[in-house]
Amino acid sequence: MDAFSAVKTSLDTAKTAVKGLIKIEASKEVAEALEKLQDANEKLFDMRDTLFNLQQENQNLKTELQEKEDWEKKKADYELVETEAGAILYAYTGEPKHFACPVCIESKKEIHPLQPKNNKESSLMECKACDKQFRRLPYTPQPPKRIIQSKGWT
Ligand SMILES: [Zn+2]
Repeated sequence: MDAFSAVKTSLDTAKTAVKGLIKIEASKEVAEALEKLQDANEKLFDMRDTLFNLQQENQNLKTELQEKEDWEKKKADYELVETEAGAILYAYTGEPKHFACPVCIESKKEIHPLQPKNNKESSLMECKACDKQFRRLPYTPQPPKRIIQSKGWT
């Protein structure tokens, strides 16, 4: 082997080594790029998940707000009043006039008109939804059926 050939062989060997190094370096870069891509993909997936949750939450809040507005609008037609007998009830400001159950309005956000307990003139009114009774008119004692000793009943 002459000197020229020896130098050429050395150069070839060096070239091959450099090419190998370049390949290794390229593989590392590709692997790193893939890893970064996977990280980005996971982040994207997490962001989609977050976005979905936020959209869901937004929808729920919109529905909740709409329900609240609907309820406030419905309730605005009623005002809190005190009956002659001292019961605190909701009274409809429109027609037909009626009282509504304060228990159902306050606890269940439902409007249930109160109905006379037995007859139209009854001083008691009841809620058919929760069975609570309210006194509309002051209690007027009825004369006893039989008077044993008169104490002012007429
Ligand atoms: Zn009720």
